[in-house]
Amino acid sequence: MGKSKHITWHASEVTKSERQQRNQHKSAVIWFTGLSGSGKSTISVALEKALFAQQVHTYRLDGDNVRHGLNQNLGFSPEDRKENIRRIGEVSKLMADAGLVTVTAFISPYKADRDAVRHLLDEADFIEVYTACSLTECEVRDPKGLYQKVRSGEIAEFTGVNAPYEAPTEPEIILDTETLTVEASVSKILDYLQKHQYINTAQV
Ligand code: ADP
Repeated sequence: MGKSKHITWHASEVTKSERQQRNQHKSAVIWFTGLSGSGKSTISVALEKALFAQQVHTYRLDGDNVRHGLNQNLGFSPEDRKENIRRIGEVSKLMADAGLVTVTAFISPYKADRDAVRHLLDEADFIEVYTACSLTECEVRDPKGLYQKVRSGEIAEFTGVNAPYEAPTEPEIILDTETLTVEASVSKILDYLQKHQYINTAQV
């Protein structure tokens, strides 16, 4: 429950459906989850670019970027991680209402938190994408040098090493990033969006 009393929902006179009609595609929240270094940022950047090139109204929310602003007061304790995902879920909901295809790239380690976002959104809007990659391979990649810092004790509570990661049990899409190229991963998501009629590239 929120802290504010005496607040009323004020409905807009432009509906989500009207926005989707104008955009010529449906809303969606493409929610990446996976270990640090599994490829969420890399693939989400390439996906956003590919969607934009196909005239899709799209926007990407990325873990580190959001922590610079909206969530700058949050750390990495379980409570803060939960609140981080809750806020991003609420922002995603607004973006879905605005008719956008939002792409989010957050470790989002707890299943319950991801499920909470799934249930917050309209059912069809949530597409969970699991970037599956072994911890060993993520450590080899170590694109931000974070695993090295964890191993030297500079970072505590790091997902996959000394903080839990709960892999999705029924994600809409699994990307095995140890075998799929970035381009193949993007194609797999675009195929899903077309097959389920979120976007229709024949029209654009
Ligand atoms: P995350 O956002 O999940 O922390 P990043 O996208 O920041 O992961 O880092 C993934 C790293 O792995 C990047 O340096 C990327 O170039 C590299 N990489 C190598 N092969 C792949 C692949 N097949 N898919 C995605 N990333 C890959």
